Amino acid sequence: MPPQLVFPERISLAQRPTPLQRLTFSLHAGPDVRLWCKRDDLTGSVLSGNKIRKLEYVMADAMRKGADTLITCGGLQSNHCRATALVAAMHDFECHLILRGESVAPADGNLLLSQLAGANIQTFPVQTYQRELTQLFSETASELKKRGRRPYCIPTGASDGVGIWGYVAAAQEMAEDFARHGIDNPLVVCAAGSGGTLAGLAAGLRVFAPQAEVLGVAVCDSAEYFQRRVSEDIAHAQSLFPDGELPSVEPVKVLEGYIGPGYALGYPEVFDVIASLAAADGLVLDPVYTGKAFYGMLAEHKKGNIKQKDIVFVHTGGVFGLFPYKNNF
Ligand SMILES: *Cc1c(COP(=O)(O)O)cnc(C)c1O
Repeated sequence: MPPQLVFPERISLAQRPTPLQRLTFSLHAGPDVRLWCKRDDLTGSVLSGNKIRKLEYVMADAMRKGADTLITCGGLQSNHCRATALVAAMHDFECHLILRGESVAPADGNLLLSQLAGANIQTFPVQTYQRELTQLFSETASELKKRGRRPYCIPTGASDGVGIWGYVAAAQEMAEDFARHGIDNPLVVCAAGSGGTLAGLAAGLRVFAPQAEVLGVAVCDSAEYFQRRVSEDIAHAQSLFPDGELPSVEPVKVLEGYIGPGYALGYPEVFDVIASLAAADGLVLDPVYTGKAFYGMLAEHKKGNIKQKDIVFVHTGGVFGLFPYKNNF
């Protein structure tokens, strides 16, 4: 019998299944290494990237709870906030974004799209945001309640026991990709930002493709942080959906040497890999997440640290975050 899990309810937002494509981009490896890309940048047009898969479960949960307003948070160029703002507009919800950083006019990339989607946007200096995020959520929620709204709070990156189901489901989809392409023992590589994609993949692959190994590439924080986050998010999912039978996982592998000067700060190797891959395969990465993850994967492979014959890079999207970095190309 094929492995099974009981999934929570979801609404349909992502274009699924996304393609699994073979890349020609040279790995500087022998001819028997195959590099693949799971095209989660194709989950939609403006509604694209990994957050859409998570929001399928989050939005179903918000609707079940009778909410009519979404509150979430992130950086000024947050892909997650842009996706949330668009999903809210599609479903006639209000959307409130708590953003980190000073906004500069005119808005670019994701911030422009969030504005066009009609989100209510508040920005805060980095330190205030970091110190007071919990309070900013509760103040926004209580203001909304006073106006008779029914707010639903989504944590950073929709990484919690609800959102990670999006990548548990993606792991099931990938198991079908592996079977179709004769991929036996792949290494699955993704960027780790708030950790939910990694958590969902780790738990989901354990069920649907136990021969696969998963590797997160940190774009902020430490390996130890992500190992803890992954266990916490999975434990949260198990407690919210006790009949789901989601398994726990061993501490996940996380690379922490590719952050560079900091979160959302690029470095020359990352800009170079973005340009080379665009020219070689017509595949466009972003400097915040996928560019660092892809560069980290190449560098580890070059060092001989990757033994698998099939390497599957999960392209989690982020193209709108590329444009604010135009001066680096
Ligand atoms: C948010 C994001 C990630 C990281 O995913 P997490 O689940 O937050 O770890 C990776 N790539 C892109 C483009 C993202 O927007």
